[in-house]
Amino acid sequence: EDERWIREDKFHESFLVSTSDDALEYCVRNSDDNRLPAIAVTALQGKYLHLQAKAIGAKRILELGTLGGYSTIWLARALPEGGELVTCEYNPKHAEVAKQNIEHAGLSSKVKILVGPAAESLAKMDPSQKFDFVFMDADKAGYPVYLEFCKTLVRKGGVIIIDNVVREGRVSDLSITDDKDSNGVRKLLEDLRHSSEFDATTLQTAAERGWDGFMFVWRL
Ligand code: SAM
Repeated sequence: EDERWIREDKFHESFLVSTSDDALEYCVRNSDDNRLPAIAVTALQGKYLHLQAKAIGAKRILELGTLGGYSTIWLARALPEGGELVTCEYNPKHAEVAKQNIEHAGLSSKVKILVGPAAESLAKMDPSQKFDFVFMDADKAGYPVYLEFCKTLVRKGGVIIIDNVVREGRVSDLSITDDKDSNGVRKLLEDLRHSSEFDATTLQTAAERGWDGFMFVWRL
């Protein structure tokens, strides 16, 4: 672990992210107390998602992978009055903790948590109700399937941010063939290569791990 990336994040945070945010602090503490894994996005990444959703005027947001609702809170705060965020979580315990955290943040009226495998929840959605913005952060092996659903569920001009697409350099290490997460990202890249429905790019995000990346996908 390289201390520089943590120091750099903290430094930027001290200028750009509020130091007293009761809802987010409660979310982190309550998630820790309930022994949820510490794998939420960073504060700066949460704010990036928030700003990106706001910049495109998102009124309907979809999230895959809720965990304790940390990124959910950042994103739901970007919604205007009457906006809605639907978030899919496989693990009922995570969903329960997220529910508490979202309630504490005063966002329950805007957020709907769907408990179960994301692919099953997506299959039940009404394609006439398009999403403007998607944050994909569930199982990485499922990404290609989720992107396929985005063809019908995301409006033209909508934005999809996909987390954890740089897997410690494993995605591009073709000697690794048995890692289903890296294989998921490789399939995603393959599907995007000649797509007429999406255009995309990757942004490496070092932060605490010293590696990782977001993919920015635009629904054409
Ligand atoms: N987006 C969260 C944040 O930044 O605060 C972190 C999400 S965490 C990296 C991934 C979550 O996806 C976990 O809570 C896990 O239980 C959930 N998950 C894994 N497989 C899933 C699936 N097939 N469907 C829905 N959720 C899934």
